[in-house]
Amino acid sequence: MAYEDIFPKALREALEGITEIPTYGEKGANRFMYNLLKLDKEKRVRLVKKILEAVQILRPCKECYLITDKEVCAVCSDDKRIKKFICVVEESQDAYAIERLGRYKGVYHILQGRIAPLEGISAEDLTIDKLLKRIETYKAKEVILATNPNVEGEATASYLANLIKKKFPGVKVSRTAYGFQFGSLIEFVDEYSLEKSFENRK
Ligand SMILES: [Zn+2]
Repeated sequence: MAYEDIFPKALREALEGITEIPTYGEKGANRFMYNLLKLDKEKRVRLVKKILEAVQILRPCKECYLITDKEVCAVCSDDKRIKKFICVVEESQDAYAIERLGRYKGVYHILQGRIAPLEGISAEDLTIDKLLKRIETYKAKEVILATNPNVEGEATASYLANLIKKKFPGVKVSRTAYGFQFGSLIEFVDEYSLEKSFENRK
C-alpha cells in the first residue's frame, strides 16, 4: 500500500493550509489539526464554521487597521474619541487589551507587526505610511508608542520616534513605560501594570 493511501489527502491539504498562517510551521499545523480532530465531530464542525464566519466578515479598519466587522471600526467612528491622540500598537489584540481598561480616549494605529530583520520584516511591510498620513490629517498632538517591550518592539518604537520627530517636529512622541517584566507581551500584561505603564509614559 502506498503512503498516499494511508495518509489521507484531506488531512495533508488541511495541514499544508495551516502552515501558510504566519508563525505556524509544520509543528504548529500538526498541533492544531490533530487536536482539532480529537474533538467530537459536531463540536469541531461548529468550531470551524465559527472560524469560517469570522474570516469572512472580519477585516482591518480602513483608518486604523484594527480588526473589525465594519468598514470603519467602533473606535474610529466614535465622535467622542480624540483623534489627536494616536496610540500605536503592533497588533489588534494589543489595542483590545488597552481598551479593556476603559481609560484611553484617543484612537489606535495597528502596525500589523513589528520591524524584525531576522524574519525579513522591514518598515515597508508595516502600515507606517498610513500612520504618517493620519498624523497629518488629524493634526495629531501626541503619538503614544505602545509596541511590545521586547527587542523588536523597542527597535520599532525608536524607528518610529525618529521618523515622526523628523517629519512632524511639533508632535509629542511618547513611549509607554513598562513596570512589568521585560519581554512580556502587551496582551498578556495584567491590567494594573498596563494602566501604570500608560500613566507613566515618557
Ligand atoms: Zn479604526
